[in-house]
Amino acid sequence: MMAQAAIALGVPIRLLAEGPDVSAAQVVRDPLVGDYRDLATLRTVAEGCSVVTFDHEHVPTEHLHTLTEEGHACRPGPDALVHAQDKSVMRARLDALGVPSPRHRVVADTAEAVAFAASVGGFPVVLKTTRGGYDGKGVWVVSSEDDCADAFAVAESTGVQILAEEKVDFRRELSALVARSPSGQVAAYPVVESVQRDGVCWEVTAPAPDLDETLAVEAQRIAMRVAGELDVTGILAVEMFETTDGRVLVNELAMRPHNTGHWSMDGAVTGQFENHLRAVLDLPLGSPAPRAPWTVMVNILGGDHGAVSENLYGGYPHAFARDPGLKVHLYGKDVKPGRKVGHVTAYGDDLDDVRERARHAAAWFRGDLGMESA
Ligand code: ADP
Repeated sequence: MMAQAAIALGVPIRLLAEGPDVSAAQVVRDPLVGDYRDLATLRTVAEGCSVVTFDHEHVPTEHLHTLTEEGHACRPGPDALVHAQDKSVMRARLDALGVPSPRHRVVADTAEAVAFAASVGGFPVVLKTTRGGYDGKGVWVVSSEDDCADAFAVAESTGVQILAEEKVDFRRELSALVARSPSGQVAAYPVVESVQRDGVCWEVTAPAPDLDETLAVEAQRIAMRVAGELDVTGILAVEMFETTDGRVLVNELAMRPHNTGHWSMDGAVTGQFENHLRAVLDLPLGSPAPRAPWTVMVNILGGDHGAVSENLYGGYPHAFARDPGLKVHLYGKDVKPGRKVGHVTAYGDDLDDVRERARHAAAWFRGDLGMESA
């Protein structure tokens, strides 16, 4: 999706791909296939590029330091990116900045997790690996001492630490997305509501319906402040909880175009991928204003039934005929149950209508609708 924006801008991209068939390698010419954890490979791909950027956060921090020392412009840079790579580093920095987070502590074993739980009013609490998690992998909601074993087993086998957090009683999850350039220009997208299922982003509504204006401003200010203080370049997504008592608490940071910003590709004047490129190239940013009062993005997750879910293209005739205003993005991935293989976006004046259109289309591609209900 970043390549799409790069094509329009006429910006050539050199890609380091994990494998020859991954989505990006299907659309960028002459991808270099290699391991992003290998410094020599990173040097090869960075050589001659004006800017190095990412669509995930797992390139080792130390390699990015080396590339930076060797004169490459890594954006975001390693000193910023580490806050998206390591949740304990992120929590410590947000505490220092006075940005509100769930109460938390790094815990070495079950006894420490039990002590932490006692300090926040008892179980349940949330245990997370400090590094390497995504889409809810590496997150456990634990209700008792006995539940803690899984998390510490993973910690032991992978050498990462475990962060314990209070289980936040949230009304919903929000995301505040900003683009920031090295010159310090910032564009803030409207705060969105995201719905997660099994730790995976399912649906995003822009702007977040019925969000109190003060909280919306607070969420955007937090995102802009974090972007500035951490010297983030490119897109920063700040995932937050809106608590039942009317506060926002930061859950985590992502420093790349993010699933909660996919709505902007069709729903905003400037999509997040274009603004990411403009930002890392230190060009003036585009307007993040929405094109319509409401935009709803629903992910297409691989379903486990139905002909449509196996051949996503088979879903086009019905989806397009039913809704000429619908936008569909398919990622060229093999369909596996639960895997994100695309997304749909609808926008318009009436939230209920927009939501119904997006939900229907995503369910159709998943294969969750029979022909009779189409
Ligand atoms: P990942 O790195 O996999 O995205 P997150 O830290 O975002 O992990 O957690 C995944 C999901 O788990 C969140 O979207 C939220 O629904 C839930 N969650 C995470 N932390 C907490 C918490 N402290 N309290 C309540 N729910 C949480």
